[in-house]
Amino acid sequence: MNRFQNIFNAQKANQFTVGNATYKERIKKLNALKQAIEVDFKDQIREALYADFKKPFLETDLTEIYPILGEIKYVKSELKGWMKHQKVTTPMALLGASSWYIHEPKGVCLIISPWNFPLNLTFGPLVSAIAAGNTVILKPSELTPNIAQVMSDIITKLFSENEIALVQGEVEVSTALLELPFNHIFFTGSPQVGKVVMKAAAKHLTSVTLELGGKSPTIIDKSANLKAAATRIAWGKFVNNGQTCIAPDYVLIHEDVKDEFIRVFKVVIESYFGNDASTSNAYARIVNDRHFKRLQNHIENAKTHNAKIELGGDVQELDNFIAPTIISNLPEDASLLQEEIFGPILPIKTYTNMQEAIDYINSKEKPLALYVYSKNKKQTQFVIDNTRAGSTCINTNVLQYSNHYLPFGGSNNSGIGKAHGIFGFQEFSNMRSVLKQHTKGSIEFLFPPYTNLKQKLVDFTLKWF
Ligand code: NAD
Repeated sequence: MNRFQNIFNAQKANQFTVGNATYKERIKKLNALKQAIEVDFKDQIREALYADFKKPFLETDLTEIYPILGEIKYVKSELKGWMKHQKVTTPMALLGASSWYIHEPKGVCLIISPWNFPLNLTFGPLVSAIAAGNTVILKPSELTPNIAQVMSDIITKLFSENEIALVQGEVEVSTALLELPFNHIFFTGSPQVGKVVMKAAAKHLTSVTLELGGKSPTIIDKSANLKAAATRIAWGKFVNNGQTCIAPDYVLIHEDVKDEFIRVFKVVIESYFGNDASTSNAYARIVNDRHFKRLQNHIENAKTHNAKIELGGDVQELDNFIAPTIISNLPEDASLLQEEIFGPILPIKTYTNMQEAIDYINSKEKPLALYVYSKNKKQTQFVIDNTRAGSTCINTNVLQYSNHYLPFGGSNNSGIGKAHGIFGFQEFSNMRSVLKQHTKGSIEFLFPPYTNLKQKLVDFTLKWF
């Protein structure tokens, strides 16, 4: 605990030096991070993620390295504007004053990240935190130790501990860190742990960003282009071996097109991974034994419920391999329909009319993402109008994450607050209002003593403003 307290104290003492860094100084830090990820540590990053869960190099480039480089590039292009005084209108009643607000740094921040996109979800928020002028303690997941070590090496090389520090460890480390009175906590992980974080933050009235998970539904209506839907869903579901917070968790499909969709989906999966995905170099593995067993239990549970394994279902304990799996005819109490899946298993559930699909979604927690495949604009709008979700893609999935102009995050059970671009920058900033009085203000005519004349002026003002 003492070690964390010492780092915290050192960062607190240094927060104004870091916070008052100019635009150019902040850009220099972002450039250093870019150079480390793009060049100096690129090979170590790829190898570490392969060692952690056999993540293919191309997937590492696409889903870990590229998003951070893209975020840095975008932030660099906008930061000058974000750091400026943001002028706002001053109402007539405050004649003689002018007003603006500034994005001041929150101060000393904690970023706790998960294992599923460990680099992206640790350094992504860090980019926002640096841009906003904060000091940061990072706590990556213990489940991907190889990449955690590479990230630690990067941080140690680039920053002093009183500005950015990375500490490794299990739950006890998080618990100890959460005792400290941080100015902001940015947590990415499960809703269960999100509640622990929010409770700890409440003790110090620390603000939080919670990037959480849950079950993200995918609706496919009768009019949808089934081939396009299958092509995109198969990628969105099986990239990172299904261990993606915004992966389509399950499909809700109109009963008339279910059989055809499954037929096309099987063809697509074979074209991606061959007929034995365990030999494919495009297919990662489950992160550890515990998660492997959890997913194996889901498949066993589905079988005991007489569900239909449409594809896959095979597992290899030796290297935590679970084949791309499609399961239909699941009863509502099957575990696959109750818990976030977070693996390469796709349940397919049918509906007969859209209202039924919507009622089903609304009977659950608000999802992080909700996807709709349809050619019918009215139907798509009907889904958006009658559901709530952190984000929606129409006729695709997962790509909303890659647009820095869009806020990324959930709602209630799937999250609080937003990440990426200006939204991430604001999450790590306090919007501080400033009002400057230039001349004698009109309000001063109303200061005490309260005379009849002043009362008449107030009556007049209330009537006309
Ligand atoms: P997790 O909640 O188990 O762990 C996340 C982090 O919290 C890790 O660093 C872990 O060490 C720490 N932690 C675990 N238990 C803790 C406790 N009791 N107190 C304090 N800290 C604790 O999540 P995970 O298994 O690493 O990741 C999977 C979850 O994260 C899924 O639910 C997924 O949907 C979600 N997720 C969300 C996003 C998003 O952007 N919204 C992104 C990725 C993952």
